Amino acid sequence: MDHKQAIINESKIQQILDKNQSVTDKDILDVIRLSRNMKGLDIEQVAILMQAHDPEVLHELYDAAKCVKETIYGRRLVIFAPMYVSNLCANECLYCAFRARNKAISRRSLTQKEVAEETRALIDQGHKRMLLVSGEAYPREGFPYILKCVDTIYNTKHNNGEIRRVNVNVAPLSLDEFKDLKAADIGTYQLFQETYHWDTYHRVHVAGRKRDYNWRITALDRAMEAGIDDLGIGVLFGLHDWKFEMLALFQHIQHLEDRYGIGPHTISVPRLEPATGSDIAEHPPKPVNDENFSKIMAILRLAVPYTGIILSTRETAETRRNSFDLGVSQISAGSRTNPGGYGDDDTVDSSQFSLGDHRDLDEVIRDVASLGYTPSFCTGCYRLGRTGADFMDLAKPGDIKCHCDPNALSTFQEYLIDYATPETRVVGEKTIAEALAEMDPVIRTRSEKMVAQVKAGKRDVFC
Ligand code: SAM
Ligand code: SF4
Repeated sequence: MDHKQAIINESKIQQILDKNQSVTDKDILDVIRLSRNMKGLDIEQVAILMQAHDPEVLHELYDAAKCVKETIYGRRLVIFAPMYVSNLCANECLYCAFRARNKAISRRSLTQKEVAEETRALIDQGHKRMLLVSGEAYPREGFPYILKCVDTIYNTKHNNGEIRRVNVNVAPLSLDEFKDLKAADIGTYQLFQETYHWDTYHRVHVAGRKRDYNWRITALDRAMEAGIDDLGIGVLFGLHDWKFEMLALFQHIQHLEDRYGIGPHTISVPRLEPATGSDIAEHPPKPVNDENFSKIMAILRLAVPYTGIILSTRETAETRRNSFDLGVSQISAGSRTNPGGYGDDDTVDSSQFSLGDHRDLDEVIRDVASLGYTPSFCTGCYRLGRTGADFMDLAKPGDIKCHCDPNALSTFQEYLIDYATPETRVVGEKTIAEALAEMDPVIRTRSEKMVAQVKAGKRDVFC
């Protein structure tokens, strides 16, 4: 089967882009109005929204995204940190500092002892959710190295804390390897296609297994078939025309929904950042400016209202602040992109790319809370088996909020007591009080009870 043709249909994308070149503001406003019903959009409607330019129309678009975000997610923002376990890589992705032929960085894969040290460093900051990241060349033992790392992370207990959910972003696996990953109890398996555009894909992936577009585009199918129904997808924006990428991303989502009845759990929207030894990363071929980036986030929120949108520390603090109202629901904080970055290795010459937001977790939390958002360290759904279709069954009628809101407050309270600076604690306690005051009475009672349990010394309180 030509997988590329089966999942991504480039000529159809081009047709839709051409057809919607000259839509009117009224056409766009009609779609925005419709999107407020939170039922999602079809590919033609996404193409229409991408044509928004007029400031008043853009204002309407952003307002609709804010409204949908607040209705579904309230003012919660899920917090996580990446852990890079290895920067060895056999591929030659021209945009990445880890590419095999790049001599300008030092190489390292963490030993299990070092993985435990990094885990303790993240626990000490207050993290509960981790994203394990690696280049595509594992030490001696091959892929089981990743399984060992997941196991080490889950088994590292430290003071009051532990990492309660490990998500994984590693190269595409075989069906059997995905089964092993599922057995390791991971949360989300995340994989970005980078670019869905066939020619561009081959221009920027010049050597190694990653050159095989079809192996990558079919990876999420293998993951689903292995029983991993919590999947994250994404595009590396800046490699090819963002409008093409958006429609292709949408086709990929549609494929998963049609075939498995479940779309992705999250979408990531990384933009190319400078990386040591990469010209492309320094000068993206198709840069996405801030206005178009805002449109991307808002349109995704309206098109797939129940899918989480992730924004990493690639972006500056200011861009991240603006993104919360546009629909972003998960952010990383205090991140390092070099193996050993949280502990002993503070060199930057082994990092994957440079960061836009260098603030530590406490500062990000204080900022987020002072804007009226509740940082959430919740890991409840995945630990209670609410993933895939079960999650969507709860999410779509809006029932998930009666779990998410109390869990956000109990885990935030835990953070404030165990890890926050006094300054952040003051801001955070006020945010919790305000969030409780605005809650529906039944959910408020449940939340107050859970927060009180945390204050009384209980940990890991969730429903
Ligand atoms: N090596 C695996 C792979 O390529 O799928 C998994 C992890 S890779 C380290 C994580 C992601 O980093 C890639 O999928 C890519 O989107 C992103 N990335 C690589 N270089 C980047 C850059 N210069 N700026 C922003 N993101 C980058
Ligand atoms: Fe290796 Fe992934 Fe970087 Fe490509 S993006 S060079 S596969 S680490």
